[in-house]
Amino acid sequence: MRVRLAVVAALIAGTGVWASGAAASGGDAAAPPERRTIGTSVEGRPIEAIRYGTAGGVPVLVVGVIHGDEDAGLAIVDELARLAPPAGVELWVVPTMNPDGTAAQTRGNARRVDLNRNFPHAWAPMGEPGYWQYAGPRRASEPETQAMVRLVREIRPALGIWYHQDLSMISPGTGREGLVRAQYARLTGLPLVRITGGRYTGVAATWQRRAVREGMAFVVELGPTLSADEARVHARAVMAVARSVVRAAAPSGARD
Ligand SMILES: [Zn+2]
Repeated sequence: MRVRLAVVAALIAGTGVWASGAAASGGDAAAPPERRTIGTSVEGRPIEAIRYGTAGGVPVLVVGVIHGDEDAGLAIVDELARLAPPAGVELWVVPTMNPDGTAAQTRGNARRVDLNRNFPHAWAPMGEPGYWQYAGPRRASEPETQAMVRLVREIRPALGIWYHQDLSMISPGTGREGLVRAQYARLTGLPLVRITGGRYTGVAATWQRRAVREGMAFVVELGPTLSADEARVHARAVMAVARSVVRAAAPSGARD
């Protein structure tokens, strides 16, 4: 933990670069944030999305919470609201796609479905209610999953970032996405570590990569806790990788 905090402190010391970048993009014709209810949970709680930045820009999606008892991403979501997205980025933030689980501090939703096993790519039945990875009765059976499926199909994110806890790592990727994962890892001090073994069906980020073939999506496994300073470092890392994505999307010179 001491090593990680040292890394974080070093990153914070470098904030000047990011701050000037944010200030430069702040003058862009960014639309005011727009709040939208994208669906309703099993218990009737609204699932909210907030859009920041350049309307019609390159869409980037951040999901703060999917497993309700892994909610450190909410602090990152709060920090994102204080930063100006890079010019040309339309940032979509879903603080929690599992508001019932967040309220109850449970992994699953109110029907005890593990929403990260419920997405409609490579879905397979897994367990029964009460099993920690219960996948639900069928693919995309849950209203929370359906809300995210609709949103992703509509906005077609160029990049999606999904927060979890508490493995303190990011899986390495290949190609363009591998570079973005490595950039995020470098900026936050999280190690790039390959998970071996385990069977992962109906996973949100995997589904997103299949649903939006030209886009990227990855999971950030935060640690058991997240300090305010660390949350700020992560929010800046989101903006930095978003800037990389928008640069990669733009042909050299002006885009219209
Ligand atoms: Zn998780």
